[in-house]
Amino acid sequence: MKIASANSQSTTHLLRCVKCGTVQEDVSPMFRCGRCSELLEVVYPGFEDRLRNDAANLKQVWQQRRLSSAPEDSSGVWRFRELLPQVEPQHVVTMGEGNTPLVSLQKTARALGLHHLLIKHQGMNPTGSFKDTGISAAITMAKAEGFSCVCCASTGNTSASVAAYAARGGMKSVVLLPSGQVTTGKLAQALEYGAHVLQLQTDFDGCLRLLEQLVQKLPIYLLNSLNPYRLEGQKTVAFELMEQLNWQVPDHVIVPGGNLGNSSALGKGFLELRDLGLIASVPRISVIQAAGANPLVRSMRETGGKDLIPVNPETRATAIRIGSPASWRKAVAVLKNTGGVAEDVSEDEIAAAKADLGAEGIGCEPASAATLAGLKKLVRSGFVKCDETVVLVLTGHMLKDIDYVAQMHGPRLAQPVEANAATVLSALEKIYAKS
Ligand SMILES: *Cc1c(COP(=O)(O)O)cnc(C)c1O
Ligand SMILES: [Zn+2]
Repeated sequence: MKIASANSQSTTHLLRCVKCGTVQEDVSPMFRCGRCSELLEVVYPGFEDRLRNDAANLKQVWQQRRLSSAPEDSSGVWRFRELLPQVEPQHVVTMGEGNTPLVSLQKTARALGLHHLLIKHQGMNPTGSFKDTGISAAITMAKAEGFSCVCCASTGNTSASVAAYAARGGMKSVVLLPSGQVTTGKLAQALEYGAHVLQLQTDFDGCLRLLEQLVQKLPIYLLNSLNPYRLEGQKTVAFELMEQLNWQVPDHVIVPGGNLGNSSALGKGFLELRDLGLIASVPRISVIQAAGANPLVRSMRETGGKDLIPVNPETRATAIRIGSPASWRKAVAVLKNTGGVAEDVSEDEIAAAKADLGAEGIGCEPASAATLAGLKKLVRSGFVKCDETVVLVLTGHMLKDIDYVAQMHGPRLAQPVEANAATVLSALEKIYAKS
């Protein structure tokens, strides 16, 4: 059986346990430490020394690659390859992921009394979520190691991304989904891109436990965010964001938290930039969860981040409906190392925040809108101050979850109007009278 090995690819990176620090010689198919079973992270020994003299130059190199049409240069992930595992260009599986817009939210900022509020829209990735940046990185490692089949358990977006990138890379994909808990849009994507889709009568955590048994038995490469290469791809959002902000560090970056891979990756990206001397300080990175799926918030409140308190997850923001997040230890470290907080928000607060974004022409998934709902709480509590710059990371595209939108706006859809000029005019007069 083929085992993913950190050493076969290059000597420039290692996989190290986040808890006991053991550098892995042979890496298990579940990417867990051979000694203590904790998660692994990618480290680049001595990279500060190697790159520090070149640091200023790096900013220019990255900028210039934007003008190149080579696939590995126009990718918002591989453009930053000095800070990624080294791979041969022919193994890179890319669809121009990353390269997402940064947009300022003026109405919402005014309402909250903030001067600088921005969104980084990761829903503008090729399959409509940030997962693409991570999957591009991890599936490239799978290809470099000779795998022909990849798999994941998913709340929906990972499966859409895995299916698409496997198709691009000429690989087979298997996705395990919790039945009845994945939106039609996401399921449709996985099917369209040709994944073998299995809907199981369990939740996300149950799907992942099952997958654990499968990868021990079959030569199939795991693409869940236990896979540390996912985080390497996802950390590039920090690099791209800093470019877009002309390397002026924002005070706060806020992300939704599910399995907590994304918040961990974002933190890793910023801390690496700081260690290289490309930025002088890091933003406070805060994580927002739904109140019905808030294991990180409870763990911070009740144990100070020492132990995980799993919960039975329930929220309509299905992308963050996770009760036992794999990367909780990494996320706790990011909160501590950047001075961020974990906060939770109600279903109504999420819906209201999503409507606020919509009113500014910004669509996103419910899970993404949790960031704005969380920001409102953090402004009220005084953690975010009015002169501070805040970036919300919107993680998924609005069209991923049409049922949610249809339910919210159902009453407005329900009243067809007679097709004659008098009726339409009188309807419009009411609109003008209001404004
Ligand atoms: C996966 C996902 C999340 C949660 O990210 P984690 O890395 O699991 O914390 C949030 N929003 C959307 C849209 C997602 O697809
Ligand atoms: Zn260990």
